[in-house]
Amino acid sequence: MIPFLDLKKINSQYQEELKAACARVIDSGWYILGSEVKAFEKEFANYCHSEHCLGVANGLDALILILRAYIEMGVMKKGDEVIVPSNTYIASILAISENGLVPVLVEPNQDTYNLDYALIEEKITNKTKAILTVHLYGQVNDMDEINAIAKRYNLKVIEDCAQAHGALYKGRKVGSLGDAAGFSFYPGKNLGALGDAGAVTTSDMELVNTISALRNYGSHEKYKNVYKGINSRLDEMQAAMLRVKLKHLDSEIALRRGVSSAYLKGIKNPLLDLPKINDMQAHVWHLFVIRSTQRERLVDYLLENGIQSLIHYPIPPHNQAAYKEWQKSVFPVSELLHEEVLSIPLSPVMLTKEVGRVIAVLNDFQ
Ligand SMILES: *Cc1c(COP(=O)(O)O)cnc(C)c1O
Repeated sequence: MIPFLDLKKINSQYQEELKAACARVIDSGWYILGSEVKAFEKEFANYCHSEHCLGVANGLDALILILRAYIEMGVMKKGDEVIVPSNTYIASILAISENGLVPVLVEPNQDTYNLDYALIEEKITNKTKAILTVHLYGQVNDMDEINAIAKRYNLKVIEDCAQAHGALYKGRKVGSLGDAAGFSFYPGKNLGALGDAGAVTTSDMELVNTISALRNYGSHEKYKNVYKGINSRLDEMQAAMLRVKLKHLDSEIALRRGVSSAYLKGIKNPLLDLPKINDMQAHVWHLFVIRSTQRERLVDYLLENGIQSLIHYPIPPHNQAAYKEWQKSVFPVSELLHEEVLSIPLSPVMLTKEVGRVIAVLNDFQ
């Protein structure tokens, strides 16, 4: 079987370093917001070309805390609207509703699967306060266009970078392309911890101060609570794991690009649509997503041939039971994508012969 993603194989490459990092934390005697978190925050901010990074408990919390901080700062208030793509992973949208803000869905571009910036303006009202855009599958958005609209309407731009660590836009990394960014280090992400973890990057010092209190009970100083905060801190242990993994991220991205290039060159089947890519640097290939009008048959066929595949995602957010208010809404592009997309195996530990096998099997699909 060619697995969709072999996490054990990915992490076991670094097991000596990971175990040493674990031991370092155990021996330190300091387990919350200590030197590992501080060091990781500095290293990850540098990596992202951003001035600051704050470690938090997971990617969803990173996005929740950014919006919550903007509320505390008076930039937005409950009932205000946030533009978000209609075909993202549900977490981007949950972060908005969790804060009592209103998610306003905008359809994606058919080729990039990212927010279609040409459709943003018609959704802007006097309640709109931010654009939360998602670098879906690992590919950067049209940030110049999005930032230009945000500037015109005085909106904040928040990047959801959960799938795109290290992707470049005109020489700059994601996480530094808007006002603030949320990252997830869920184990299956391109930069994955060995448990839950997340981070915020930003160059806005007021935002840094607010979030650093909000993630820690709303307190800058022990037992003095400025906000009704939460507990959402990055673990020392996970920070230590992430410092190891961060050192290998660029070489893993290169390996992912190698697999994707082979797929893009090798897969030739009129029944399958491949991703359309202009700039390889702008994509870090968290997922390699193909499209087929015969997806159900394709999934079975791949399994019969020993190849695992996954659907990202099977149900569009506006059709989820959690969002009954959108039951009657129609988003044709999102709905079409959700019916056709299929993610095929892609990881930095895939063998050349496995990549060749996936290509050959896909080319024989009829
Ligand atoms: C994974 C993911 C998240 C949430 O991250 P968690 O760490 O699992 O909370 C948010 N947005 C997108 C696009 C994701 O893929």
